[in-house]
Amino acid sequence: MARYTGPVCKLCRREKEKLFLKGERCLTDKCAMERRPYIPGEHGKRFSKPSQYSNQLREKQKAKRIYGVLEKQFRRYYDIAARQKGITGENLLRVLETRLDNVVYRLSFAASRAEARQSIKHGHIMVNGQRVNIPSYRVKQDDVIGLTEHGSKVERIKESLKSASKAELPSWLEIDSKAGVGKVLGIPTCEQIDTSIKDKLIVELYSK
Ligand code: SF4
Repeated sequence: MARYTGPVCKLCRREKEKLFLKGERCLTDKCAMERRPYIPGEHGKRFSKPSQYSNQLREKQKAKRIYGVLEKQFRRYYDIAARQKGITGENLLRVLETRLDNVVYRLSFAASRAEARQSIKHGHIMVNGQRVNIPSYRVKQDDVIGLTEHGSKVERIKESLKSASKAELPSWLEIDSKAGVGKVLGIPTCEQIDTSIKDKLIVELYSK
Protein backbone atom coordinates (compact mmCIF):
# COMPACT_ATOMS: atom_id res chain seq x y z
CA MET A 1 0.00 0.00 0.00
CA ALA A 2 1.39 3.36 -1.00
CA ARG A 3 1.84 5.83 1.81
CA TYR A 4 3.37 9.22 2.50
CA THR A 5 6.99 8.90 3.65
CA GLY A 6 8.05 12.57 3.90
CA PRO A 7 8.42 14.74 7.01
CA VAL A 8 5.29 14.33 9.09
CA CYS A 9 5.26 17.53 11.17
CA LYS A 10 5.38 19.59 7.98
CA LEU A 11 1.91 18.27 7.20
CA CYS A 12 0.52 19.82 10.38
CA ARG A 13 2.37 23.07 9.74
CA ARG A 14 0.96 23.19 6.20
CA GLU A 15 -2.57 22.80 7.56
CA LYS A 16 -1.81 25.29 10.37
CA GLU A 17 -3.30 22.80 12.82
CA LYS A 18 -2.17 19.95 15.03
CA LEU A 19 -3.18 16.73 13.27
CA PHE A 20 -1.73 14.45 16.00
CA LEU A 21 0.21 12.24 13.62
CA LYS A 22 3.05 11.30 15.97
CA GLY A 23 1.47 9.94 19.12
CA GLU A 24 2.82 11.17 22.48
CA ARG A 25 5.22 13.66 20.90
CA CYS A 26 2.22 15.71 19.74
CA LEU A 27 1.36 16.41 23.39
CA THR A 28 4.80 17.69 24.33
CA ASP A 29 6.59 20.98 23.68
CA LYS A 30 8.69 19.16 21.06
CA CYS A 31 5.68 19.44 18.75
CA ALA A 32 6.64 21.48 15.68
CA MET A 33 3.35 23.36 15.85
CA GLU A 34 4.36 24.71 19.27
CA ARG A 35 7.72 25.87 17.99
CA ARG A 36 6.96 26.97 14.42
CA PRO A 37 3.22 27.40 13.98
CA TYR A 38 3.40 28.71 10.43
CA ILE A 39 3.44 27.22 6.93
CA PRO A 40 6.84 25.71 6.00
CA GLY A 41 8.89 27.45 3.35
CA GLU A 42 10.20 30.89 2.51
CA HIS A 43 6.78 32.58 2.40
CA GLY A 44 5.28 30.65 5.28
CA LYS A 45 4.78 33.63 7.56
CA ARG A 46 3.04 35.73 4.90
CA PHE A 47 -0.67 36.29 5.33
CA SER A 48 -2.98 35.99 2.36
CA LYS A 49 -6.75 35.75 2.41
CA PRO A 50 -7.70 32.18 1.42
CA SER A 51 -10.12 31.73 -1.47
CA GLN A 52 -13.13 29.43 -1.24
CA TYR A 53 -11.31 26.89 -3.42
CA SER A 54 -8.27 27.04 -1.16
CA ASN A 55 -10.43 26.36 1.93
CA GLN A 56 -12.00 23.35 0.22
CA LEU A 57 -8.66 22.02 -0.96
CA ARG A 58 -7.04 22.43 2.45
CA GLU A 59 -9.91 20.59 4.14
CA LYS A 60 -9.50 17.66 1.77
CA GLN A 61 -5.73 17.61 2.33
CA LYS A 62 -6.25 17.74 6.08
CA ALA A 63 -8.60 14.74 6.00
CA LYS A 64 -6.18 12.76 3.84
CA ARG A 65 -3.33 13.54 6.17
CA ILE A 66 -5.20 12.73 9.37
CA TYR A 67 -6.21 9.30 8.06
CA GLY A 68 -2.94 8.69 6.17
CA VAL A 69 -4.64 8.17 2.82
CA LEU A 70 -3.26 9.21 -0.58
CA GLU A 71 -5.24 11.03 -3.27
CA LYS A 72 -6.29 8.05 -5.38
CA GLN A 73 -7.64 6.09 -2.47
CA PHE A 74 -9.28 9.14 -0.94
CA ARG A 75 -11.09 9.80 -4.21
CA ARG A 76 -12.21 6.16 -4.25
CA TYR A 77 -13.60 6.58 -0.74
CA TYR A 78 -15.46 9.68 -1.89
CA ASP A 79 -17.02 7.73 -4.77
CA ILE A 80 -18.10 4.98 -2.35
CA ALA A 81 -19.60 7.62 -0.04
CA ALA A 82 -21.41 9.34 -2.92
CA ARG A 83 -23.02 6.04 -3.99
CA GLN A 84 -24.30 5.31 -0.47
CA LYS A 85 -27.67 6.53 0.82
CA GLY A 86 -27.60 9.62 3.04
CA ILE A 87 -25.32 12.63 3.24
CA THR A 88 -22.13 12.12 1.23
CA GLY A 89 -19.83 14.03 3.62
CA GLU A 90 -21.02 12.02 6.60
CA ASN A 91 -20.71 8.78 4.63
CA LEU A 92 -17.15 9.73 3.74
CA LEU A 93 -16.20 10.25 7.40
CA ARG A 94 -17.79 6.92 8.24
CA VAL A 95 -15.82 5.13 5.51
CA LEU A 96 -12.57 6.69 6.78
CA GLU A 97 -13.38 5.99 10.40
CA THR A 98 -14.06 2.28 9.82
CA ARG A 99 -10.61 1.62 8.33
CA LEU A 100 -8.85 -0.98 10.44
CA ASP A 101 -5.81 1.25 11.11
CA ASN A 102 -8.09 3.97 12.49
CA VAL A 103 -9.98 1.47 14.66
CA VAL A 104 -6.73 0.01 16.03
CA TYR A 105 -5.64 3.57 16.90
CA ARG A 106 -9.00 4.49 18.44
CA LEU A 107 -8.90 1.30 20.55
CA SER A 108 -5.48 2.43 21.87
CA PHE A 109 -3.54 -0.51 20.48
CA ALA A 110 -1.30 2.18 18.97
CA ALA A 111 -0.36 5.77 19.81
CA SER A 112 -0.97 7.03 16.26
CA ARG A 113 -2.57 5.83 13.04
CA ALA A 114 0.91 5.40 11.52
CA GLU A 115 1.88 3.11 14.39
CA ALA A 116 -1.40 1.24 13.98
CA ARG A 117 -0.63 0.73 10.28
CA GLN A 118 2.74 -0.71 11.17
CA SER A 119 1.27 -3.13 13.73
CA ILE A 120 -1.24 -4.34 11.16
CA LYS A 121 1.42 -4.75 8.46
CA HIS A 122 3.57 -6.68 10.91
CA GLY A 123 0.68 -9.11 11.46
CA HIS A 124 -0.06 -8.25 15.10
CA ILE A 125 -3.78 -7.61 14.63
CA MET A 126 -6.65 -10.06 14.28
CA VAL A 127 -10.24 -9.46 13.24
CA ASN A 128 -12.71 -12.11 14.41
CA GLY A 129 -9.82 -14.44 15.22
CA GLN A 130 -8.18 -14.13 11.78
CA ARG A 131 -4.92 -12.25 11.22
CA VAL A 132 -5.49 -9.20 8.95
CA ASN A 133 -2.52 -7.33 7.51
CA ILE A 134 -4.39 -4.77 5.39
CA PRO A 135 -4.57 -1.34 7.08
CA SER A 136 -7.43 -0.23 4.79
CA TYR A 137 -9.59 -3.23 5.74
CA ARG A 138 -13.05 -1.91 6.68
CA VAL A 139 -14.54 -3.15 9.93
CA LYS A 140 -18.22 -4.00 10.36
CA GLN A 141 -20.62 -4.01 13.28
CA ASP A 142 -19.84 -6.77 15.84
CA ASP A 143 -16.30 -7.33 14.54
CA VAL A 144 -13.90 -8.27 17.33
CA ILE A 145 -10.43 -6.76 17.07
CA GLY A 146 -7.68 -8.53 18.96
CA LEU A 147 -3.97 -9.16 19.10
CA THR A 148 -2.04 -12.18 17.91
CA GLU A 149 0.00 -14.02 20.53
CA HIS A 150 3.12 -12.22 19.34
CA GLY A 151 1.30 -8.89 19.14
CA SER A 152 0.24 -9.10 22.77
CA LYS A 153 3.92 -9.23 23.76
CA VAL A 154 5.01 -6.18 21.77
CA GLU A 155 6.16 -3.49 24.23
CA ARG A 156 4.74 -0.53 22.26
CA ILE A 157 1.31 -2.12 22.10
CA LYS A 158 1.39 -2.99 25.82
CA GLU A 159 2.43 0.57 26.72
CA SER A 160 -0.26 2.04 24.53
CA LEU A 161 -2.96 -0.14 26.06
CA LYS A 162 -1.78 0.76 29.56
CA SER A 163 -2.14 4.47 28.88
CA ALA A 164 -5.53 3.99 27.21
CA SER A 165 -8.20 6.25 28.59
CA LYS A 166 -11.82 5.13 28.61
CA ALA A 167 -12.86 8.77 28.24
CA GLU A 168 -11.22 8.97 24.82
CA LEU A 169 -12.79 5.77 23.50
CA PRO A 170 -15.53 6.54 20.96
CA SER A 171 -18.96 5.26 21.98
CA TRP A 172 -19.19 2.97 18.92
CA LEU A 173 -16.23 0.93 20.18
CA GLU A 174 -15.63 -1.13 23.30
CA ILE A 175 -12.33 -2.30 24.75
CA ASP A 176 -11.14 -4.74 27.34
CA SER A 177 -7.60 -3.38 27.80
CA LYS A 178 -6.50 -6.23 30.05
CA ALA A 179 -7.52 -8.89 27.55
CA GLY A 180 -6.39 -6.73 24.61
CA VAL A 181 -9.70 -7.18 22.81
CA GLY A 182 -11.93 -4.54 21.26
CA LYS A 183 -15.35 -4.71 19.67
CA VAL A 184 -17.17 -2.62 17.07
CA LEU A 185 -20.55 -1.94 18.66
CA GLY A 186 -21.92 -0.27 15.56
CA ILE A 187 -20.99 1.80 12.53
CA PRO A 188 -20.44 5.35 13.85
CA THR A 189 -22.95 8.11 13.37
CA CYS A 190 -21.66 11.56 12.49
CA GLU A 191 -22.05 12.69 16.13
CA GLN A 192 -19.88 9.80 17.33
CA ILE A 193 -16.95 10.77 15.12
CA ASP A 194 -14.54 13.04 16.94
CA THR A 195 -12.99 15.11 14.18
CA SER A 196 -12.44 18.70 13.15
CA ILE A 197 -12.92 17.87 9.46
CA LYS A 198 -15.53 19.98 7.69
CA ASP A 199 -16.83 17.29 5.35
CA LYS A 200 -19.11 19.73 3.46
CA LEU A 201 -16.08 21.56 2.05
CA ILE A 202 -14.68 18.28 0.69
CA VAL A 203 -18.00 17.45 -0.97
CA GLU A 204 -18.11 20.94 -2.50
CA LEU A 205 -14.62 20.45 -3.89
CA TYR A 206 -15.31 17.07 -5.48
CA SER A 207 -18.73 18.13 -6.79
CA LYS A 208 -17.27 20.83 -9.04
FE1 SF4 B 1 1.77 17.46 14.23
FE2 SF4 B 1 2.35 15.80 16.18
FE3 SF4 B 1 4.31 16.85 14.68
FE4 SF4 B 1 2.97 18.34 16.44
S1 SF4 B 1 4.33 16.61 16.88
S2 SF4 B 1 3.47 18.92 14.36
S3 SF4 B 1 0.89 17.51 16.26
S4 SF4 B 1 2.69 15.45 14.02
